[in-house]
Amino acid sequence: MWDFSTDPEFQEKLDWIDRFLIDEVEPLDVLYPSVSVVYDTTHRVSRAILKPLQREVQRQKLWACHLGPELGGEGYGQVALALMNERLGRSLWAPTVFGTAAPDTGNAEILAMFGTQEQKDRYLQPLLDGDIVSCFSMTEPQGGADPRVFTTQARREGDHWVISGEKWYSSNARYAEFLLVLAVTDPDAPIQKRMSMFIVPKDAPGLEIIRNVPHMGERLEMDEATEGYLRYNDVRIPLDHMLGGPGEGFAVAQARLGGGRAHHAMRIVGQCQRALDMMCERALSRYTQGTRLADMGTVQAMIADSKIELEQFRLLVMKTAWLIDQSHGDPRKARAHIAMVKVGMAKVYHDIVRRALHMHGSLGATFETPLAYMWINIPTFGLADGPTEVHQVTVAKELLRNYKPAEGLFPSEHLPPKIAAARARYAHILNEHAAGES
Ligand SMILES: Cc1cc2nc3c(=O)[nH]c(=O)nc-3n(C[C@H](O)[C@H](O)[C@H](O)COP(=O)(O)OP(=O)(O)OC[C@H]3O[C@@H](n4cnc5c(N)ncnc54)[C@H](O)[C@@H]3O)c2cc1C
Repeated sequence: MWDFSTDPEFQEKLDWIDRFLIDEVEPLDVLYPSVSVVYDTTHRVSRAILKPLQREVQRQKLWACHLGPELGGEGYGQVALALMNERLGRSLWAPTVFGTAAPDTGNAEILAMFGTQEQKDRYLQPLLDGDIVSCFSMTEPQGGADPRVFTTQARREGDHWVISGEKWYSSNARYAEFLLVLAVTDPDAPIQKRMSMFIVPKDAPGLEIIRNVPHMGERLEMDEATEGYLRYNDVRIPLDHMLGGPGEGFAVAQARLGGGRAHHAMRIVGQCQRALDMMCERALSRYTQGTRLADMGTVQAMIADSKIELEQFRLLVMKTAWLIDQSHGDPRKARAHIAMVKVGMAKVYHDIVRRALHMHGSLGATFETPLAYMWINIPTFGLADGPTEVHQVTVAKELLRNYKPAEGLFPSEHLPPKIAAARARYAHILNEHAAGES
């Protein structure tokens, strides 16, 4: 049975979210339109607004819905989360208000999956309570998409692990209470067993922020840079700060990345919808050559293409969410679809925002609408959580698994043998009619 409807009880929750976002959360977006304030837990004014909003979300049982019931979440599942996230994606602050902001979501997931009780009590609980933020420190200056180039290492010395090396683009490191660090523990092992994951508290001696690198749109002069370039100078942490077992770092990292990519795609649906809403309003409001933009064929084509592309992408995202729900923790079942939405989101986001921006003319090219903030973020969606090309490879490999080479010199769809076979199959009828016709 195919069914695209939403359960009425959950629809009520979605309607509540819509109202709450407009009334309470979007004002935060315009007051503090900077990622750095979102993650800065010491920013007193924004926290005074944020905390009561987070409590209200918890009261509504809509907090941290990315976690399943076995991990302490509400257990609505990924399809429901997709419906929520496409709303939250419209707003910069909403994921933090609802306890679903990256990278804390993925970090919470792997702490819940692989953490000891002590690790959960000390690091997971305050993260789930929204009291702290965390960092995922994997990418290195020499590369992020290929784990074979990682050189940061951890060696055992007595009762401690000692970590040394450099990490690049460790988002929000400056605000994090702890960092999850991927480090080589057995350089001679195959890549899947070469690294382990560690929990490094922010005040561990030797942890140095070389500099906070601003991603596009962040202003250095406003101290907004959030991408940490880090050096681990023989950082010593107790033995019990390994997350998962020795050599399991790669598997632990993979466990967090799949969900994160899907969640980004869900939120991009919301961003694209917002851009489309703006495009349609503009088309109805702006007059040129004595007519509304909405009455011009080329403008109608831009609106129609945007709607079609968004609808296609949204359906792919919903199917991916459904597959994750059906996979019952087996990452292989949704792998190809997660890679598809990862590839698709950068393109659909680019195409729709570009049209919306263009339709706003010179106003679109200012920072006086949300479109400029969307536009400068677009390139990062093709890179964060792995470049587009790497995920294209995953899609292609997964697809090609289901095929085999053609048996002969020509493709199996080559028409001459098919025509001959069809003639043979229906020869009795063809012959009878040919005789009658002649
Ligand atoms: C906004 C943002 C936030 C991020 N946050 C974090 C974070 O919190 N923690 C963290 O550890 N990292 C983070 N990253 C880093 C991210 O994971 C890397 O940027 C990504 O994995 C790519 O690595 P790279 O930048 O070294 O590019 P490279 O690996 O050098 O790739 C550069 C280009 O080479 C090509 N290429 C690479 N590999 C292949 C391939 N296999 N096939 C074909 N072409 C290929 C692609 O065109 C690619 O864009 C973040 C990045 C961004 C943009």
